Amino acid sequence: VLIAALNLGQASPCLEAFAAGRGAATIIFETIDREPDIDCLSEAGYKLDKVKGDIEFHNVTFHYPSRPEVVILDKLSVAVNSGETTAFVGPSGAGKSTAVQLIQRFYDPKEGMVTLDGHDIRGLNIQWLRSLMGIVEQEPVLFATTIAENIRYGRPGVTLDDIIHATKEANAYNFIMDLPQKFDTLVGEGGGQMSGGQKQRIAIARALVRNPRILLLDMATSALDNESEAVVQEALDKVRNGRTTISIAHRLSTIKNADVIVGYEHGRAVERGKHDELLERKGVYFTLVTLQSQGDKALNQKARQSRAS
Ligand code: ADP
Ligand code: MG
Repeated sequence: VLIAALNLGQASPCLEAFAAGRGAATIIFETIDREPDIDCLSEAGYKLDKVKGDIEFHNVTFHYPSRPEVVILDKLSVAVNSGETTAFVGPSGAGKSTAVQLIQRFYDPKEGMVTLDGHDIRGLNIQWLRSLMGIVEQEPVLFATTIAENIRYGRPGVTLDDIIHATKEANAYNFIMDLPQKFDTLVGEGGGQMSGGQKQRIAIARALVRNPRILLLDMATSALDNESEAVVQEALDKVRNGRTTISIAHRLSTIKNADVIVGYEHGRAVERGKHDELLERKGVYFTLVTLQSQGDKALNQKARQSRAS
């Protein structure tokens, strides 16, 4: 917590970039690892008059500065269509989260490029680019202040009405209104006074006050109980509507709802299609689905056994 706090302090000029819910571990990694040549406050670059929201990786090769010998993205080519939800799936370490970091320009490709509506994002104004995006990560960073202030981090200066609107969209309004202090409730150190599902919905509201054109959901290892997961899931299904959404999810139920599923392996997109198509293909997606249903069966069996005993 202390390290995270120190790093937050140092990185404060760029707070808005990760305020939308980025994980503490990511922040530490990035503060250590971030390339000095990406200036998040730069005034350089142009803005597009109108954003459609098509994102595309063109033959992107990437390795982290600290480990130049390890290729993380290997000639990655993938298109994410405007207004659709694209699920990135694949084994842990395949490069899904890294791809999402490149879209936000926390790093730049070594080769190839990432485009927004056909424009190389390196040519766009970085603050403007990031203002288009809302990010929800697995372990949202909540600050030891009120619920309202935590949501306001997503877009400093936003009104309480906007915050209320965002919490309604995020399925958070009702639980907040049930708290004695409502929006003035203190979330505690690291959000410790909130449950996992509540934290996640506050993080979703924080992303939504930005009214983002592009939604990046990196919630790969969700550890919520089934009930919280259903509420969070319902919120996500609502808010992704009409937005370009990339969803890195672990639960099959989440992935099935996507318009397109992209399977990753070793830093490449190796398959693309709908649920049924990819099942037939018997590739990465098929393997994940099979493993997960075996895992679920084992869990159910365990539950039955413990009920019986
Ligand atoms: P996925 O999201 O598909 O699980 P990641 O993109 O998180 O995969 O990670 C891909 C690889 O990059 C992993 O081997 C991981 O250890 C490595 N990696 C991730 N972040 C960093 C970082 N900041 N510095 C160095 N290596 C990293
Ligand atoms: Mg990941």
